[in-house]
Amino acid sequence: MTTPHPETWIKVLPQGLFCEPGGFFVDPVRAVDRAIITHAHSDHARPGHRAVLATAPTLALMQARGVAGETERAVAWGERVQSGEVTAWLAPAGHVLGSAQVAMEWRGSRVVVSGDYKRAPDPTCAGFEPIQCDVFVTEATFALPVFRHPPAAAEIARLLASIALFPDRTHVIGCYSLGKCQRLIALLRQAGWDAPIWLHGALVPMCRVYEAQGIGLGDLRPATVAAKDKLVGQIVLAPPSAVADRWARRLAEPIVCQASGWMRVRQRAKQGGVELPLVISDHADWDELNATLDEVGAPEVWVTHGSEDALIHAAGKRGIRGRALRLIGYGDEEPAA
Ligand SMILES: [Zn+2]
Ligand SMILES: [Zn+2]
Repeated sequence: MTTPHPETWIKVLPQGLFCEPGGFFVDPVRAVDRAIITHAHSDHARPGHRAVLATAPTLALMQARGVAGETERAVAWGERVQSGEVTAWLAPAGHVLGSAQVAMEWRGSRVVVSGDYKRAPDPTCAGFEPIQCDVFVTEATFALPVFRHPPAAAEIARLLASIALFPDRTHVIGCYSLGKCQRLIALLRQAGWDAPIWLHGALVPMCRVYEAQGIGLGDLRPATVAAKDKLVGQIVLAPPSAVADRWARRLAEPIVCQASGWMRVRQRAKQGGVELPLVISDHADWDELNATLDEVGAPEVWVTHGSEDALIHAAGKRGIRGRALRLIGYGDEEPAA
């Protein structure tokens, strides 16, 4: 029997990526009967699925976000799941807590769907593990040569230097509630910042799940009820939307910061009124994307969302065939990047 080409058994349907012989979708954008979910961000973990398979932390985060499936099955890293003739398993993607790649095998043909991923170390989640495959389905959020993320520790050092320089002001950092917020806190703790970190109320639920899953975040306090003068010289975290509005202006001479891979683009920071842009991303940068393509050794790469043209062009120059899936509905979490 010849090995089937992945195009014959992994289909792009309006609901999303469908594993036909297994009868399930990966990160479907519409409610389906059976879904494997890579991670709990809103563009990948949609509400209304009947049966959901994911890692335990992803299921806990989905429950906290109110998008749990009717029935759920948690699987450990590498645990084999049989669905018809398809064998599937999850491997760490290094993006946020619980984030997984989905590996699927049918009749000797192997496809790996990365979900969102990064290669830089992150104290809040397991690191990305490359898996050899025939087709690697990748994201391409930052797939342009201009995107090269500096080490996160260096960005944290810039933040701490600014706090030392302006002790009478409050540093308020815009960050997405799932992943970026907790990574920032963990990076600050690693850098020796053991003072309380003050949180906008919208960030609290996801932090609670992280802590319940064993990711210690230290002394966290609500910023909303705190007296303004208590926050002088302190760090406040808030959703990106809140740092730009009146909420942040109530703080003591706030210095507005934002943590995102997009902060590499000066114009973006300027438009958002960001004084101190921190280039901290939970997505692979240009070098990481290309290095990963080489490591997984797939002769073919399918790109879900982002700057697919540049990545497909770069892959093609190295003999890797590229295909843009043009899936609609991913990337809505842009500020998370
Ligand atoms: Zn994501
Ligand atoms: Zn995404």
